[in-house]
Amino acid sequence: MDATELRGIPVSPGRAAGPAAWMVGPQPAPPPLPLAVPADEASSEIAAAAAAVRSDLLTRAERQAGAAREVLEMTATVAVDPALLRSASALMERHNLAPAPAVWQAAEGIAQSFEEKGGLLAERAADVRDVRNRIVARLTGAPVPGLPERDVPFVLVAEDLSPADTATLDPDRVLALVTALGGPNSHTAILARELGLPAVVALGGSLHRIDDGTTVGVDGAHGTVRIDAVDPADFAPSTGRVPSLAGPGRTADGHPVALLANVGDRDSARAALTAGAEGIGLLRTEALFLEAAEEPDLAAQVAAYREVMDLFPGRPVVVRTLDAGADQPLRFLHLAPEPNPALGMRGYRVAGRNPGVLDHQLTAIARAERESGADVAVMAPMVSTVAEAEEFVARAHAAGLPRAGVLIEVPAAALHAGAILARAAFASIGTNDLTQYTLAADRTVGQLARLADSWDPAVLRLVESTCLAGAQQGRPVGVSGEAAADPALAVVLVGLGVSSLSMAPRALGPVGAVLGRTTLSECRRLAGLALACEGPADARATVRAGLGALDDLGL
Ligand code: PEP
Ligand code: MG
Repeated sequence: MDATELRGIPVSPGRAAGPAAWMVGPQPAPPPLPLAVPADEASSEIAAAAAAVRSDLLTRAERQAGAAREVLEMTATVAVDPALLRSASALMERHNLAPAPAVWQAAEGIAQSFEEKGGLLAERAADVRDVRNRIVARLTGAPVPGLPERDVPFVLVAEDLSPADTATLDPDRVLALVTALGGPNSHTAILARELGLPAVVALGGSLHRIDDGTTVGVDGAHGTVRIDAVDPADFAPSTGRVPSLAGPGRTADGHPVALLANVGDRDSARAALTAGAEGIGLLRTEALFLEAAEEPDLAAQVAAYREVMDLFPGRPVVVRTLDAGADQPLRFLHLAPEPNPALGMRGYRVAGRNPGVLDHQLTAIARAERESGADVAVMAPMVSTVAEAEEFVARAHAAGLPRAGVLIEVPAAALHAGAILARAAFASIGTNDLTQYTLAADRTVGQLARLADSWDPAVLRLVESTCLAGAQQGRPVGVSGEAAADPALAVVLVGLGVSSLSMAPRALGPVGAVLGRTTLSECRRLAGLALACEGPADARATVRAGLGALDDLGL
């Protein structure tokens, strides 16, 4: 029998087969059925369901660390809040309601009163509704909305996944991810690569051909999902270790290029250490607080940063201040929905609106640096103007952080790089956003993936002019976008003048190997060829042909 394969965009390599488990959509309110058993019996049913929800949440919390763990522990407490049980019991007695609609209405009443009080209490409303959904699901036997909970490892199938959902996935339980929407450089895709989970996105409507529970086979390198006749042996995960770096990054003729890692938490920082990273070129701090309901206090922030810094004493750790907004809304910042979020309140603009949040963060980073002994620098995301760069640098200095740089992610910032680097200690080019803004192609939209390609010579020209500005000002320029993780493109970036490359830990080995067999003059020659091309496909093909066989590295 011929196998049926769905085709999407490959975003994270690897193969895996297993039962499909669909993300469960939002739950409708249960119908207002009458009470069928005595009220005290029904109250005990609710109490038992609430206790079971609490224990489920605590079990899940044990598998998590940091902020994700705290959120789950806090939600577990909300599940057994006596006010919820009292209010549901009163509704059952007074209105003769069955347990499920009584819990629904009681929780809704509590959530709405929190929302009316506003401020931090309003944030608790989401937790109340989350436990409501879980208790009602227990009472009615329906699946709990959100990430599926299964006894065996599964392939997660979802319309779309937020970075917050992806960050809490347990790689021991989730074999692979497949989604209808999503783009290759979305934060969800980046997290999948960091977690080493095979992932295929942008499968569109064909995703609905996957039935919950059927065995599917995912090929994250080719972007295919087999939905029948799956032989698990064909999808056995490769047993090869993640290739690690043989030594410090350098070209074949010894020109040093620092090979650093992009991380979002302690686990990915450990993976970076194992892979031989020379340091951390991008610590995405928002990843530590995606689920925090309130701004984390100084002690919590210091502890979270130290979990990464302590692994790299005496080595560079570049901490990016919060990059909230667009596909990473941080709950505690109360960002309003926007028609065009990637062009709206995100990155450093959010800091401008909440100066206290940035200053607290800089204070916490400075303290974590003193306590850890890592060689810490800070940088601001999504800086668009010279004035923003100047302001950020001044605030970092005031907090006791002398090494303050900026991410170059907006074409205007690349074009102003000379003036920006006259103020900032270094620049790190965020090619994911620089590509999205240069091509005006949303990085989270799979259909635009062909357009949002960092090989586009227009993007490479902006990299080149930023590097020239860095050379004139005597300031280092690195790359921390996904472009640095593509060995052939990494060679071009070095040829354009970047002095460090920061990437997902698993990319370090292949990038280090290709760089180590290419001389600096060859990097420059290939960069020149790429710049002269008219489009990304042309540039990629020309450089790959120029590099010769990459097959021995499986590239
Ligand atoms: C980038 O935009 O390339 C970058 C490094 O930051 P992020 O992917 O987190 O937006
Ligand atoms: Mg960015």
